[in-house]
Amino acid sequence: MERTPKALSIAGYDPSGGAGILADLRTFWRYGVYGVGVITAITFQNTQKVLGFSPLSPEDIENQLLPLIQDMEFEAVKVGMLVEREIILKVAQLVESYALRKVIVDPVLKSSSGADLLEEAAYDTLKERLFPLATLVTPNIPEAELLTSIRIGNVSDMERAAEELLKTGVKAVLIKGGHLEGDPVDVLKVRRNDGVRTYRFWSKKYEADVHGTGCVLSSSVVALLSLGYDLITAVSVAVSDMAENFKKAIVKVGKGRSVIFTGSIDQEKPSIVPPPSKTSPL
Ligand code: PLP
Repeated sequence: MERTPKALSIAGYDPSGGAGILADLRTFWRYGVYGVGVITAITFQNTQKVLGFSPLSPEDIENQLLPLIQDMEFEAVKVGMLVEREIILKVAQLVESYALRKVIVDPVLKSSSGADLLEEAAYDTLKERLFPLATLVTPNIPEAELLTSIRIGNVSDMERAAEELLKTGVKAVLIKGGHLEGDPVDVLKVRRNDGVRTYRFWSKKYEADVHGTGCVLSSSVVALLSLGYDLITAVSVAVSDMAENFKKAIVKVGKGRSVIFTGSIDQEKPSIVPPPSKTSPL
């Protein structure tokens, strides 16, 4: 039997499915990667707004992960919403103790509606404890500004902020340029033995109010790493898939913001069995 690639998401639960663990697992599936999830916090939200959240205890997080670790191996791991310092410390300890590889940290700090999804007092803990264990961190511009105190208005500011974040010990930093004026540029900086390499990815601006784009991009990178792509290829394919998502996969499922929902990119869509007709003899 062929080996199935597996990825783990350690993230918040958004019951409306636009962001968090449900969006991550849907994204893994699109790439043919089997996803498992460890929930850090339950949020109360719909497509219109985030009403609140309740973190799980560090013990509950560990108790979700341990049986999985004893059972299977993951090719790559995504870390999303962490809420508070104690959860960051627990996740960092788990990453170290179980030598989790290819850990991508999406630093979820605030919801677009302004709710604090990580307490501000924990920003330094995130940088000091978790970033050094990560292969890649994927802040958007407001997150990179909050983490570096650099005001970002253009691509060279993004590059300065990425350099600053590399100092935390993380191997690579992707700053997403969706908040730039005009067409977005994503900046990737990768530390190598011979110095730091910089990559820039240009896309077209799409004026759509979409929830969960950060989750889908970071979990696309995780899925592609799980399939065996190297980091640069995984990021560049994920960025271009994201542009396709904006063109083809923005759907409105509620009264508020749209979400990303598509079938699999590479595989045929599962065939839909039609419901039995009323006149069916059965
Ligand atoms: N809820 C969860 C569980 C999330 O992980 C995130 C972002 O990553 C959000 C809400 C906020 O998403 P948005 O900024 O698109 O509102």
